[in-house]
Amino acid sequence: MRATPPAMPPAHPFDFDAWETDLGGDKPKEECGIFGVIGTADAANFVALGLHALQHRGQEAGGIVCHDPEQGFNSARRFGYVRDNFTKQSLMETLPGPLAIGHVRYSTAGSKGHTAIRDVQPFFGEFSMGGAAIAHNGNITNADALRKELIERGSIFQSSSDSECIIHLMARSLQRRVPERMMDALRRVEGAFSVVAMTRTKLIGVRDPLGVRPLVLGKIGEGWALSSETCALDIIGAEFVREVEPGEMVVIEDGEVKSLRPFQPARPRFCIFEHVYFSRPDSILNGQSVYTTRRQIGVELAREAPVEADIVCPVPDSGTPAAIGFSQESGIPYAMGIIRNQYMGRTFIEPTEQIRNMGVRLKLNVNRALIEGKRVILVDDSVVRGTTSRKIKEMILDAGAKEVHFRIASPPTAWPCFYGVDTPQREKLLAATMSEEEMRLHLAVDSLKFITLDGLYRAVGEAKGRDPNAPQYCDACFSGDYPVEPADQINKGFELKAAE
Ligand code: SF4
Repeated sequence: MRATPPAMPPAHPFDFDAWETDLGGDKPKEECGIFGVIGTADAANFVALGLHALQHRGQEAGGIVCHDPEQGFNSARRFGYVRDNFTKQSLMETLPGPLAIGHVRYSTAGSKGHTAIRDVQPFFGEFSMGGAAIAHNGNITNADALRKELIERGSIFQSSSDSECIIHLMARSLQRRVPERMMDALRRVEGAFSVVAMTRTKLIGVRDPLGVRPLVLGKIGEGWALSSETCALDIIGAEFVREVEPGEMVVIEDGEVKSLRPFQPARPRFCIFEHVYFSRPDSILNGQSVYTTRRQIGVELAREAPVEADIVCPVPDSGTPAAIGFSQESGIPYAMGIIRNQYMGRTFIEPTEQIRNMGVRLKLNVNRALIEGKRVILVDDSVVRGTTSRKIKEMILDAGAKEVHFRIASPPTAWPCFYGVDTPQREKLLAATMSEEEMRLHLAVDSLKFITLDGLYRAVGEAKGRDPNAPQYCDACFSGDYPVEPADQINKGFELKAAE
């Protein structure tokens, strides 16, 4: 495979992880986005567009692997945004062919916070029966044990990513064809995974048996696409066909889609936080519009936690649909009391002390004309460490608000996620150590209410709340009920919730 040389990281990279709490980055971080296309000319161009639409799922780095019948496999991996790299003609000309897959990364495992180019996916392996590349969204919860075993048996790892285990497990499989090798490999893997993979002639998509992370199938002309979210199908003009089902493997070749079931059937446990925060509001998840679900969360929140006030303001952007729902249900006017600078991104590579002290004001500004003298309901999607919530409250009070009432569109985040979302350690989660009233006092607001877990379930379409007979969601970060035991974490001393 011919790989183009990667762009170098900034000479003096700034520790954004440490600074992000001041920048309104006090949120669980999206995991990764994956995308693949087969059966179109210059598939890599479509993949670049798809990855651009999935950029909210990972901003550290991106990569594309493609195959052309004459030129074979090619790849490019780059730090930074898709738009800054995969729009350059000089680069895209090196990625020809009708088959390509890609990945945008936020590191949830491996070199966390400081991505090395060797950790940027897709990963490629040259096997005896030909090459294959994979891109993974999720987190392998037994990766430490697998890596140790594989290294002891002679595997040489190129990266610190948990996803690379899949390539090595495939290499060790005795099966002849790539799909069967992937099945062998993925049966050894625990945790959450949505995977797109490719050989010279096949595009493959797989979801773990619980379907924790999303993956959808689309049709573009005579070709096909696989994507983390439907919003990325829209950008390339592909038609949304259906979701890849939990536990399903789709193998696409010569225009045909074959569906295989390599795993034991299990009760689905899709990530409920995708509805609250991670996915784009213009995507369809589990057959539901993300925007509609988020607005319904606001409706439920207004019913569960009403309060007298003058205006409802979202903490932009992810709090916006819930604030609209809250306003509609309560009859309290909606107001854009906080404006987000859409161009903040990672603009300041080495911010000065003076800029750093501006903190959250760099990203969010209060619309004083709307706030002054008002009793304000602030609707946010989640409270993780609480650092940003405090700062936003101070900005609102500085602008002359009479009262501040926080309404949160998710239950208290009291447990870390081990399935591909970066959350702080449990002891750093505000809700892990404080009651709701203690959190209210800590944030120094007039009232603080979270939607209940039952309310959230109603909003995502389970009318009676958490129906034990309906397909469940993963809600472990709220409930501590982990659908897959996080083996590596337990080995490192993590304690599961005691049985009630
Ligand atoms: S723990 Fe939370 S964020 Fe992680 S998969 Fe489950 S619901 Fe989603």
